[in-house]
Amino acid sequence: MPMADAIDAPPAIRNRLKKLGLERLDDLVLHLPSRYEDETQITAIAGAPTGVPLLIEGRIVDVTVKAAPHRQLVARVGDASGDGSVLDLRFLSFYGSQQRVLENARDRGQRLRVFGEIRCGYCGPEMVHPRYRVVTEDEALPQSLTPVYPTTAGLSQGALRRLIARALEDADLVELLDEAWLSSHSLPSFASAVTLLHAPPRTLGVDALQARSHPAWRRVKFDELLAQQLSLRHAYLARRRKGAPVLLAAGKLAGRLAAALPFFLTGAQRRVVAEIAADLGQPHPMQRLLQGDVGSGKTIVAALAACQTIEAGYQTAFMAPTEILAEQHFLKLRAWLEPLGVELLWLAGGLPKGVRRERRLQAATTAQLIVGTHALIQESVDFAHLGLVIVDEQHRFGVRQRLELRRKGGNPHQLMMSATPIPRTLAMTYYADLDVSVIDEMPPGRSPVRTRLFSDARRDEVVAAVRALVGRGRQAYWVCPLIEESAKLDLQAALDTHAALGVALADHRVGLLHGRLRSEEKAAVMAAFVAGEIDVLVATTVIEVGVDVANASLMVIEHAERFGLAQLHQLRGRVGRGSHESVCVLLYQQPLSAAARARLKVIFEHADGFEIARHDLHLRGPGEFIGSRQSGMPLLRYADLDADADLVEFARVQAVRMLRDDPARARRHLQRWLGNRDELLKA
Ligand code: ADP
Ligand code: MG
Repeated sequence: MPMADAIDAPPAIRNRLKKLGLERLDDLVLHLPSRYEDETQITAIAGAPTGVPLLIEGRIVDVTVKAAPHRQLVARVGDASGDGSVLDLRFLSFYGSQQRVLENARDRGQRLRVFGEIRCGYCGPEMVHPRYRVVTEDEALPQSLTPVYPTTAGLSQGALRRLIARALEDADLVELLDEAWLSSHSLPSFASAVTLLHAPPRTLGVDALQARSHPAWRRVKFDELLAQQLSLRHAYLARRRKGAPVLLAAGKLAGRLAAALPFFLTGAQRRVVAEIAADLGQPHPMQRLLQGDVGSGKTIVAALAACQTIEAGYQTAFMAPTEILAEQHFLKLRAWLEPLGVELLWLAGGLPKGVRRERRLQAATTAQLIVGTHALIQESVDFAHLGLVIVDEQHRFGVRQRLELRRKGGNPHQLMMSATPIPRTLAMTYYADLDVSVIDEMPPGRSPVRTRLFSDARRDEVVAAVRALVGRGRQAYWVCPLIEESAKLDLQAALDTHAALGVALADHRVGLLHGRLRSEEKAAVMAAFVAGEIDVLVATTVIEVGVDVANASLMVIEHAERFGLAQLHQLRGRVGRGSHESVCVLLYQQPLSAAARARLKVIFEHADGFEIARHDLHLRGPGEFIGSRQSGMPLLRYADLDADADLVEFARVQAVRMLRDDPARARRHLQRWLGNRDELLKA
């Protein structure tokens, strides 16, 4: 850290600042108020409104410590105008020093400025725990609004304000953007934007500023988005400078696989296969996200990419988030590829140690397609010549794992698949370092899934519907929710439902699948369901992703109100895979919270994954949406992807231009915003 940028403060203060992530002058400059208070005008006590923050001025006429009902300090202030109106300041907890200051002020007849909200107390108007200050007789009122900053214990607003005011003088506020461009977009300079936001003139008004649509806020938000774009773009370019195996193949293996399939690829599948094939032939690592709604047929696309890799003489690793899903993939890929002479290997966390060691050895040598859970990443398998990594259901992995994988041995090509579509603004921000392919067409012959909502009180009707359905030879899923607080309760719920359905559907076969079965047990249950030996599969959310059984045409989701939108969409996508008319029943428990009601409404009204994801982003915000808590990505503090979508677009264009025309300024901009936190810069 250059000394010029260090904060000059005692170590104790510096430690507290550090808790807020403030280590440099730049950080202080960008630590913007969360709100403002208007202390620029005095309101007379007489007739002052209640419930709104305001400033009054007066002299203490009385200070008392009341013993009952609780010990408290009450200071009575007479309005400075001398009109006789009074206001009580009530302190439910206080220090002796505070009492003395107020008594002193009373004895000396000093003026007091008090800021707070008036409420109607027992003995007239009062303020509880107001902020107050002794002032001189002719002390001028501040000309600017008072900023209120996010802070931490032991660091007062006053101290923070002084530090920030000094930082505004000492920090380098040089303009890094093109001034003509700025003015054509009605954006102020950086220096004037931050100066204004830290001390806005009273004329702007608290409300207008808090709405954050003032040009100064827009400038700051733009800069933040620009930093994010620069950082991602930088990572993207850095990746393109890395070497990766050039996977050239005549397409024989892929051709044989395609010829053996019982269906033709859709136009969308053919298009994305071509996009991926072109990337694999490049000398730098592909990092492509393959998006396609649930059931759009991503697996075959991945298999074709694996064919190209294998034909070119390299290995493919195929990873899924759960063992059940990984195993399903393994079985499917084996059925497709073993007849073509491909050597497949199943590698999962559940295997005995000895076997695992043996398989790792095989992975290190002859295996061509290695399928497993992300145990594959965790237990550093030494691949002999890894050419392609395929990650299914990428949204389950999170951004951090994505970065981890990127650092993993060599620079294999990466194909990430996700059924959780990323709304456009997110795709342009958090995922901007990826290339994206989209399957926007469903295989023919699918029947849409009808969604029905039932209150739990009508459970019997649902059970009767299940009975009728399995009587016709169809199969059903019955999903019990994961109960976050208690793994035991979670299991119990599934066990209870399984027992109850076993009784209610005595003539049918009811199976049970949950996370605590051993992996062989899970595999056996799943195999029985696939083979049609189980009619109703009671399951926890372990079946959420990717499971594919065409004969299953009913999905019952219990406590649907507890699930997130993406989960509901995924679960619903487990049915409607064959030609049978399919139904998804959402059982909910009343009363519904407003948020749960909103989610159920969205899932009821929409079938399209993109629409659902857009609503999801809107309801939850990007942090929750991408699981940022573990993501390790610097989150946006000021910009709002929903409200500031236009700025995202500008920032994208500017980032490309800036990196090309003025990399030094780009670097300085990143430094200003991310300091040493920019992981991507170091990657
Ligand atoms: P997802 O995109 O959700 O991973 P899958 O790859 O599991 O979807 O495909 C869903 C089902 O559709 C599978 O049974 C798959 O074999 C089948 N499928 C894939 N592509 C086609 C196609 N072009 N025509 C018909 N069926 C297809
Ligand atoms: Mg899938």
